[in-house]
Amino acid sequence: MKSQSAQIRTPLTETMIDECPAIDIHVHAQGTISPQTAWELGLCNKLITVSQQADGTWQLQDGPLHIGKGDPAKRYSNIFCSRGGFEISLDENGAPIDLAYNYNCVGDGHDKFTGFDAVMATVQGHRHPPGGLQTEEDYRFIMERYLQSCVRQNVRYTEALQNIHIAHVLRPDLPPKEARAQFFRLCRDIVKQFAQQNVHLRFHHCPNKTSKSNLPGALAERSLEWPEWLKEANSIAPNVFVALNSAGHEEQERLDGGPFAMKKAYENAKNAGFGCEAHAGEGIGVEHMLDTMQCLPVTRIAHGVQVIESQAAINEVLGRGITLIMMPYINVTLGAPLHVKETTQGEIPHAKMQDGMRDPSVHTKHILDLTKHPIFTLMRDHSVPIALATDNPEMGGMTYKEQVKLLAGFGSNFPSGFLPLSAEELALCNMHALKAAFCSRGVKEELAQALLSWMTKYNIKIGLSI
Ligand SMILES: [Zn+2]
Repeated sequence: MKSQSAQIRTPLTETMIDECPAIDIHVHAQGTISPQTAWELGLCNKLITVSQQADGTWQLQDGPLHIGKGDPAKRYSNIFCSRGGFEISLDENGAPIDLAYNYNCVGDGHDKFTGFDAVMATVQGHRHPPGGLQTEEDYRFIMERYLQSCVRQNVRYTEALQNIHIAHVLRPDLPPKEARAQFFRLCRDIVKQFAQQNVHLRFHHCPNKTSKSNLPGALAERSLEWPEWLKEANSIAPNVFVALNSAGHEEQERLDGGPFAMKKAYENAKNAGFGCEAHAGEGIGVEHMLDTMQCLPVTRIAHGVQVIESQAAINEVLGRGITLIMMPYINVTLGAPLHVKETTQGEIPHAKMQDGMRDPSVHTKHILDLTKHPIFTLMRDHSVPIALATDNPEMGGMTYKEQVKLLAGFGSNFPSGFLPLSAEELALCNMHALKAAFCSRGVKEELAQALLSWMTKYNIKIGLSI
């Protein structure tokens, strides 16, 4: 059955988008760090220095302190460039002009995801410490910036993905268990600070599922501590860390035994009452996404772009009541791969494996255009429950409202006949996000009321509630 939005399409205005009380349930905490914030962290932690020369110009140097030895970016300054990929230039006050992240910081020959992952790891710094984030004050600072962004945009509910491992970096002076306890108290304070500004915040533990995590032990062993850390969190600060997630390069995950190697960890988390979500369907193909859905007790899949390659996988999503959390802008930025087959009607998405064998007629394309992103087909033709999210709003992605404006056609150059995101579709995405959110019924009801008020004001009807 098609959703009501397929019949009634109220065009979105920028004011409607600005006023919408948004629900963003998938945001990597480190992905909220803008290039400018990362620059300030670098200066503050002495990883970079700008100094004025005799001729009055300013010069950027690395040091006097350095990032971790094994860090793939090698030097902190390598993660920056000027917009367009140019060398950094400084203005008359020594401030960077048009600062951007340099996703080519690990050199040529890598895919975009690898460079992006390296920037993220260097800014967060827990894989090869020290990196950009070093102290509890740094963490408060980045979350304060994120709170300001939520308030500016009217994002009313958000789930931040954070690897608890960062606790050991923020408090190296404490034994690991005490450092984590301290971090849970810090996150509890941050949740309160958000609530004071009318923004509900919850955290996920989001470890890196691959050997890139730079931690000892095979994935099956290593992952067993994930639910234990969540239980620790809940005993110290209840309802702050509410879910288990996992991230990392899918190709590497396969080599490390995923997703099967994470089964026990996820089941333990679920049995202890935590929400379960996994990243899948953004890398090696729909087969991996199917395995993830069948093996792990997840109610949400992040990205799931490649579900479009297989009707069986779409049926699995619908049958299991899984919500797909989609973040189309970052998929376009990173050129998410999609497997396609040549047919008489042109190229159509298709699974690359056939009866366990690689289908030679299927090749890989990259999504480089929002109109080619499967979100529209999945939402409109398959009625898949989709929550719109940002993933990494300041690192490769864009903020929630900027993305919605783009999808609604503002600043986009959509071809004629292409239907931009409608008000009904935006309302549906937010209601699906709220239904799938890992928070209490009371919080959901409060936010559903806010959404309904917005919908009533603009006469938007979707026939879906929490
Ligand atoms: Zn993500």
